[in-house]
Amino acid sequence: MPGGEPLLSGFEDPDEYGFETRAIRAGQPHDPRTGGVVTAIALSTTFAQDGVGEPRFGYEYARTGNPTRHAYEQCIASLEGATHGFAFASGLAAEDVLLRHLKPGDHLLLGDDAYGGTFRLIDKVHARAGLASSAVDLTDTESIRQAWTPSTRMVWFETPTNPLLTVIDIEQVCSVVHELGGLTVVDNTFATPYLQQPIGLGADAVVHSATKYLGGHSDMVGGVVATSHEAIAEHVGFVQNAVGAVAGPFDSYLALRGIKTLPVRMDRHCENAAAIVEVLIAHPRVSDVLYPGLEHHPGHDVAIRQMSGFGGMVSFRLAGGREAAEKAAASTRVFTLAESLGAVESLIEHPGVMTHASATGSALEVPDDLIRISVGIESIDDLVDDLDRALATA
Ligand SMILES: *Cc1c(COP(=O)(O)O)cnc(C)c1O
Repeated sequence: MPGGEPLLSGFEDPDEYGFETRAIRAGQPHDPRTGGVVTAIALSTTFAQDGVGEPRFGYEYARTGNPTRHAYEQCIASLEGATHGFAFASGLAAEDVLLRHLKPGDHLLLGDDAYGGTFRLIDKVHARAGLASSAVDLTDTESIRQAWTPSTRMVWFETPTNPLLTVIDIEQVCSVVHELGGLTVVDNTFATPYLQQPIGLGADAVVHSATKYLGGHSDMVGGVVATSHEAIAEHVGFVQNAVGAVAGPFDSYLALRGIKTLPVRMDRHCENAAAIVEVLIAHPRVSDVLYPGLEHHPGHDVAIRQMSGFGGMVSFRLAGGREAAEKAAASTRVFTLAESLGAVESLIEHPGVMTHASATGSALEVPDDLIRISVGIESIDDLVDDLDRALATA
């Protein structure tokens, strides 16, 4: 990888340093000129060469390689336990590059609960370029075998899923797909590498919306791919440069800064979410709570096996139906009514009308009495009081 080497900090190796140490140090050596402990925002678009075709530090042109972006890419690779990391302008830009690995006529299996924008990208953009796809229930691996066709090349899924918090057994799905000769991509946005590392469980590539927990502060849009699959890495690196939807240096810096506190933020997200779930399951106006931490959640045992915490995302359904859900979602004060997730502040939304409107009428349509919350790291008492007040209106 051009420019990759000079940024190794010596803190990348998961066998040698713990996750929290690597979140702060991996790919981020002290500045060799000043000793600065924070990776500089490198704005230069071009780099001096010592001779024709002899770049001094491996960098030539900033779309191809930028030092701040490389630090971020190496940090992500380390955290996901991958050999390669790539950073993009958005989560969907990262997904687009992985989908370009497929050719016209190929067939993709998509988990039947997914981020609406992922479905739109596959169904409205890549379908026009000749990609066929179908949605399947991946909690049942028999459905993979049934839906498999001679042109199926890839299975793409989230776990936990957005917004239904379904848990997919990564190891089991990957082993079936590999047996059938396909590739697996896991969208690890909800869990983050702190709670779940799909590559170690057999996934060929991991994709993230870094806009969410990795950035963690609702102040940057970004995406990453991590992989140890050499052919995928070669493809992603090539398309990253050839198409150019790269993460800029400021966004790369913000992501690096966010990632340093990912472990402590995730601990608090999990703790607050668990406390809120307790309140919701006891609430008379709530008909169902979807959270992998609940013992009766169908994916609870798998979640315990493959995750080190249940995350900060919670969905629940209201006995009063769509009207009640819309009313409650619009009545909070501490929770902000907004799309997106994964940052320090708590957010509430109605997926059917907001984030998942593009899936209406498809196999990925979500119930209209559903509310999704992204539990932040505020005082838990304030969050509980706020939800109590809002639910009283529903
Ligand atoms: C937000 C999101 C995406 C898309 O990422 P962007 O950064 O908005 O492009 C993909 N997958 C999941 C699970 C998401 O939540």
